[in-house]
Amino acid sequence: MKAAILYGIEDIRIEEIEEPVCGENEIKIKVEYCAICGTDVRIFYSGHKKVIPPAIIGHEITGIVYEIGKNVYYPEIKVGDKVTIVTSIGCGKCKICKNGFYNLCPDTKAIGYYYKGGFAEYLIVPEPAVKQKAVLKLPENLSLLEGTIIEPLSCCINGQNYLNIKEDDFVVIFGGGPIGFMHACLCKAIGCKRVVIVDPAYDRLIKFGKNFPDIILLDLNKINLKDEIMKMTDGFGADVVITACPSKKAQIDALEIIGSKGRISFFGGLPKDDSIIQIDSNIIHYKEISIFGAFASNRNDYIKAGELISSGKISAKNFITDVIPIENIKEGIKRIKSGDVLKIVVKT
Ligand SMILES: [Zn+2]
Ligand SMILES: [Zn+2]
Repeated sequence: MKAAILYGIEDIRIEEIEEPVCGENEIKIKVEYCAICGTDVRIFYSGHKKVIPPAIIGHEITGIVYEIGKNVYYPEIKVGDKVTIVTSIGCGKCKICKNGFYNLCPDTKAIGYYYKGGFAEYLIVPEPAVKQKAVLKLPENLSLLEGTIIEPLSCCINGQNYLNIKEDDFVVIFGGGPIGFMHACLCKAIGCKRVVIVDPAYDRLIKFGKNFPDIILLDLNKINLKDEIMKMTDGFGADVVITACPSKKAQIDALEIIGSKGRISFFGGLPKDDSIIQIDSNIIHYKEISIFGAFASNRNDYIKAGELISSGKISAKNFITDVIPIENIKEGIKRIKSGDVLKIVVKT
């Protein structure tokens, strides 16, 4: 089969390799599409501790169930079904996993990181993933292409699970990439009237924003953010702030613009060697602010993401800039890095 093999930093090659064999306790998927994630770009340029080359990455996967191992009991799916695959696979034994938070298991092993991912014609869903019901049937009316948006959207849903966002909330999102716009669309799906995205790369923000006309876009270079948000909220500040970017400044600014009883999500992580910030903790104290983290997602978030797309509340097509053949994956990764596109999907 054809696969994109990652051999090391900036070294990915399309090769013809042996088609994987489905074990008795595994499920084999014929991969149809796999979108390129910002994390794939980071792995390509900087490596990742759980990705040991030669590796096959890619975790925003859709495909067809090709074979179900003979010991597998999985009545929810059958051969030929359109499916996606939950990325985070926990150990299944620790107290975090027992509560269903496989994304936070200290020994989490993800598809497309530790396990082989979706930039290949076939994929084996390993036994621990089968046990965790990581193979999810797509809603009937959802295409395999649209289904690639489920994974990133599920991560945003996991982040917003903590935020108790309501229709009347004023929401500010830092970061105008695909994740920032997905967060904004989720708020719109809840019914929020005022959702703002701020980004210093304003040209890009305006370009992407054409697909999302009901979201307010602010140019960080031209405004005093705090003054502007206070003006827009009659001096109360934002109810919810989400930092969808790896920026210390965004995290610090979030506290500057948040209002009383506000909820903040530090959704985007910071670079691992530069992750200490200084904040005025009295803002948290006097305004009763809550700050939450978010990392990856779980099965329930995938199900909700699939429902939101299939019901039309969120348009997957608005996020997909381009579909490319696997032979062009390197170019696709470069285009994502340039920040010039929302999502690029690889057809395997
Ligand atoms: Zn992703
Ligand atoms: Zn565990």
